[in-house]
Amino acid sequence: MNLELLTIGTELLLGFTVDTNGAELARAAAAVGVRVVRRESVGDDAEAIRSAVGEALARTGAVLTTGGLGPTRDDLTKQVVAGLFEKPLRFDEQVWADVVERFARLGRAPAASNRTQAEVPDGAIVLRNRWGTAPGLWIEGPRGLVIMLPGIPAEMRNLMAHEVAPRLAARGNGGVIRSRTVRTTGVAESSLAERLGEIEREVAPLTLAYLPGFDGVDLRLSAWELPAAQADERLRAGVALLRARAGEAVYGEDDEDLAAVVLERARAGGLTLGTAESCTGGLLGGRLTEIPGSSDVFMGGVVSYSNELKTKLLGVDPGLIAVDGAVSESVARAMALGAVRVLGVSLAASVTGIAGPGGGTPAKPVGTVWIGVAEGESVEARRLQIPGDRHNVRVRAAQAALAMLDRRLRVR
Ligand code: AMP
Ligand code: MG
Repeated sequence: MNLELLTIGTELLLGFTVDTNGAELARAAAAVGVRVVRRESVGDDAEAIRSAVGEALARTGAVLTTGGLGPTRDDLTKQVVAGLFEKPLRFDEQVWADVVERFARLGRAPAASNRTQAEVPDGAIVLRNRWGTAPGLWIEGPRGLVIMLPGIPAEMRNLMAHEVAPRLAARGNGGVIRSRTVRTTGVAESSLAERLGEIEREVAPLTLAYLPGFDGVDLRLSAWELPAAQADERLRAGVALLRARAGEAVYGEDDEDLAAVVLERARAGGLTLGTAESCTGGLLGGRLTEIPGSSDVFMGGVVSYSNELKTKLLGVDPGLIAVDGAVSESVARAMALGAVRVLGVSLAASVTGIAGPGGGTPAKPVGTVWIGVAEGESVEARRLQIPGDRHNVRVRAAQAALAMLDRRLRVR
């Protein structure tokens, strides 16, 4: 079954409210095998809503809307849809009883305007809203199907899960739309595509999407409208193939975080971790401590932004800084070794780089970052050239440090 999504609200067009409903509904629809073929947003304007719903029905025959079901004058959705279906609005006693009871529980009486919330298009199925006052509505006619949900995300979510998704699933062919993600870091999208080769042909009918982001490139495999068992089996085989081809760039699957992977590897090896950060100013420690339970592995870190503190707190030889500069292989190595010693940890990662926008030179342009990883007396360092602005450089440097820790822990 195909479906269009229409999110309604002037706040969405102004950009004050991010259209999270559209994204959530798209995922919820896929989970029951419904293919979302188009998403659109319009303001609280009767003509805009009428033409958007009308066009969606003409194109696809089914549309799910959110927003515009409240009691105020800017809430127009059900009036407009009733008009399109040439149905009058009728007063629904059950909905009104629910509204009155809901207000009573809050020790209040409904306002006169709340009565409009009990008006529903004649012939519509009322989707009872136990999480708010505006019910959802499901109306079908010769022009197709319109499902209307309130804009408030918690109400939309609950109505979708409890009232809409089961009804949509019942109409499907039993197929599911299911995805799995293989997460990679440290290899550019184009090089990754080269490694993967003719993979799209090999995994068909699954589809493959490259999703580049700050943390690396996610490879998402999707199964479309296959029986659940078959979708899972094909996805399992597809993920195995992707992992084999992408090699050491892979660090996890689905929503796994690289920091969590690093902590888990260290934990399994009975090792402790520490950090020595310059240009990331604590971002790396932040990533690790974001993960619940990090305290048994991550002991702490030193943020040594100035040259003086690199020397004073980590014991970096001031001569190295004077000769090679603070952003250099020798200083990255000395910082990591210093952290192992000072913090008393098994492994430490260091980051020193030029985040920009100032401070770059021809030999060390903005985005030059050295990362070190030390274990005991042994230390290695890597130079990166990270594109983008200050934020980009810092976030990617932290991710690259985690990737280097991950690789070190993998080969131990
Ligand atoms: P409404 O049902 O149109 O009265 O919407 C009520 C509230 O829900 C709005 O003020 C927004 O804060 C929120 N909202 C509406 N539409 C969306 C959307 N598409 N995504 C996220 N929040 C929304
Ligand atoms: Mg609204």
